[in-house]
Amino acid sequence: MNEQFSKKVALVTGAGSGIGEACAKTLALRGAQVVLADLDVRRVERVAGEINTAGGTATAAQADVADPASVEALVQFVIRTYGGLDVAVNNAGIGGELNPTGSYSVDGWHRVIQVNLSGVFYCMRSEIPAMLTRGGGAIVNMASILGSVGFANSAAYVAAKHGVVGLTQSTALEYATQGIRVTSVGPGFISTPLLNVLDDATKEAVAALHPMKRLGRPEEVAALVCFLASDEASFITGSYHVVDGGYTAQ
Ligand code: NAP
Repeated sequence: MNEQFSKKVALVTGAGSGIGEACAKTLALRGAQVVLADLDVRRVERVAGEINTAGGTATAAQADVADPASVEALVQFVIRTYGGLDVAVNNAGIGGELNPTGSYSVDGWHRVIQVNLSGVFYCMRSEIPAMLTRGGGAIVNMASILGSVGFANSAAYVAAKHGVVGLTQSTALEYATQGIRVTSVGPGFISTPLLNVLDDATKEAVAALHPMKRLGRPEEVAALVCFLASDEASFITGSYHVVDGGYTAQ
């Protein structure tokens, strides 16, 4: 346990799996009190239990980031539980439908935009007032490499992640003098349950798209997220940071 986030309260959405789980565990290991939120509360109860058993401080909460009332209730729960909010990792997301744009379903489009883009907006909208009462905070939004380049058959996901990058920039400008830093992260393809829709051969082909010739690990994303959320990143705001094994350098 180190003290980088000592006395800080952190919220991580989508913390019951993959990258969110790794972010919550790393923040807790570095001293933060963490609220872990996910659609399925049993998942975050498992992760929070592991954190508490390891000597950290964590609480699980059910929340749907696609529902602004659920998000507001979540932030109020964080404040009631730990007294405020300093760090938010808006990570929850879905892969969505894989189809070319000409046959992409309208419902599929709306669902991905609602969770992956509107969800980040709903989170920041509720988190920012809470952070302002503490004199500031740090928000890290989970975008993707697909927040800066395209990918066939993923129109909604790519549009949503590009939206997260722009939303991050605009919000950062608004609060730059009020102590709130807002950044976004662009992981390459990371080995998490989100990729379970791909068969093994496709996963190998996707791994080979990265110059490092492998998928990333959730902990490699969490290390960047924690840096951006920490006081070490005190002059960093509005920016988009990839962690992608060289994918976007090609
Ligand atoms: P994951 O293992 O599927 O974890 C995401 C978690 O978020 C799941 O527990 C999921 O629940 C939850 N979630 C989904 N919709 C939600 C909602 N409306 N409200 C609250 N929680 C919700 O995926 P991951 O790979 O860790 O992805 C985390 C983030 O990283 C996502 O934003 C994703 O787009 C981004 N990302 C992932 C990769 C990658 O290659 N894995 C690459 C770049 C960016 P369900 O399982 O029930 O949906």
